[in-house]
Amino acid sequence: MGSSDRRQTQQAEERHLLTHIIAHIPSGVFWKDRDFRYLGCNEAFARSAGVARPDDIVGKTDYELAWEKEQADYFRTCDRRVMEEDRPLLNIEEVERQADGRQAILLTSKVPLHAADGQVCGVLGIDTDISELKRVEAELRQIRSELESRVRERTADLARANETLQGEVAERKRAEEALRVSQEQYRLVSELTSDYAYAFHADADGFCRVEWVTGAFTRITGHDASQLAGRGGWTQIVHPDDLPVVERRGQGLFAGRTMVTEFRIVGRDGRIWWLRDHARPIWHEAEHRTVRILGAAQDITERKQAEEESQRHQAALAHVARLSTMGELSAQLAHELNQPLCTIVGNAQTAQRLLSSASLDREELREALGDIVSAGKHAGEVIRRLRAFLREQQPQFVMLNVERVVEEVADFIEADARQHGRRVRFAVAPDLPVVRGDPIQLQQVLLNLVRNGLEAMREASEAAGELIVHVRRRDESNEVVIGVSDTGAGLPGENTETIFEPFFTTKAAGLGLGLSISRSIVEAHGGRLWAESNEGPGATFLFTVPAIRKGDE
Ligand code: ADP
Repeated sequence: MGSSDRRQTQQAEERHLLTHIIAHIPSGVFWKDRDFRYLGCNEAFARSAGVARPDDIVGKTDYELAWEKEQADYFRTCDRRVMEEDRPLLNIEEVERQADGRQAILLTSKVPLHAADGQVCGVLGIDTDISELKRVEAELRQIRSELESRVRERTADLARANETLQGEVAERKRAEEALRVSQEQYRLVSELTSDYAYAFHADADGFCRVEWVTGAFTRITGHDASQLAGRGGWTQIVHPDDLPVVERRGQGLFAGRTMVTEFRIVGRDGRIWWLRDHARPIWHEAEHRTVRILGAAQDITERKQAEEESQRHQAALAHVARLSTMGELSAQLAHELNQPLCTIVGNAQTAQRLLSSASLDREELREALGDIVSAGKHAGEVIRRLRAFLREQQPQFVMLNVERVVEEVADFIEADARQHGRRVRFAVAPDLPVVRGDPIQLQQVLLNLVRNGLEAMREASEAAGELIVHVRRRDESNEVVIGVSDTGAGLPGENTETIFEPFFTTKAAGLGLGLSISRSIVEAHGGRLWAESNEGPGATFLFTVPAIRKGDE
């Protein structure tokens, strides 16, 4: 076979292949001449154009086929542009009604066809039905937009949740800060007041369990709060002498009463701590019993020590006061001792006489010696009483009726006044409130003021003047005021305070201690002692003692 034959065969094969491809590709393929008449098409295009076979389309224009006029117009416009401009028109997307009446979306590309001389001789078109593609695409778009809107919603949800969370976080931070501040304040208050607080849970059988105890407890006592758990745990650390107080406290609490008690506890290191405990029971009406106990305790060790110190101080002052009356006492003492001494001397002389006589009367001698022994014993008794008087004594605070306190020394006062050639008058108001104090000490103060008044009156010329002891209540300050008014010489100097200084005296035999001791006694009772000049002659000395309010007893 010659080369031209071979070329012919090859060309024939290529044409066959091309025809085959054109016939079977899923797109429609067509070609037209310059006058827009179809020269041919493939099966797919023939179907859409509404002709039975591809050959049936030859010589026809778009106006003679299945399309509507507007569509045919559009095809022509496109064909014309391709051929006139000699340029392909690619990917024209158009909606086209098919021969079978179906609306299809087609993607069409048209290219110019050239004759052997290169002149444009027609147009070749290829269209692909992209309806399905478009549908899927639309569906995808729809899905995508749904997805997007869902994402947007979700994002908004998340944003809202985040906002709420942020708010909650901020709120929690604020709450934590508030808690921290309040804990800090609580710790500070607790530490500054050296208080500790606690809560106990009480069982029906009186068994107490610690719910909580604040940390200061350990700091104060050195004991671990867990030691308090269980029956008797608490009493282990109470000072044995104060167990009855704690026992009464427990009874009160279980009977539903709030209890304020002061007692000692023994710290881990053996130190003694004074506590003021304020405990409140929580009463369960239905069970008719105390179910919880809330309390707070304060370390009052220092206060107690100061109190003890002041009591010691008091006792020392009272001791000095007694010594100052020693001068007066010595006369009485001499008188009391004189009698037994006389007896002793007299009997001793008798004994001497009996011994030097020729006939010894043993019975008489025994009697004389017996008298000496009992007189000696009597003298010993006098000395013992004096010692007891001079011995320091702690003040004894008790509930007092001031009227009684005054009454008990009224006789002494009257006798004293008589001795000084003066009269004394008592003006005691009725209905005086109860006070707390040491009766002996308060009487000592009163006697001292009376004695001073009488002494001041001794020097004064006013012979008719009287001494008044007056007692009244002062409701606005809730106290009792006791006063001694004289018609004496009046206070020495302008300053009414100088006379209260220890060792200040204007008397030849004075010690100058009476007023300063009296003042410290009155102050230990929570009262005041001061002096005022009278309108007329003389001075008035006044002292107060706080009254006990109902319920404080
Ligand atoms: P003493 O009586 O030993 O002097 P006091 O402390 O009792 O000591 O009194 C101090 C001073 O106060 C007295 O020396 C006297 O000058 C003055 N004084 C006390 N009471 C009166 C009074 N009723 N009138 C005038 N002066 C008084």
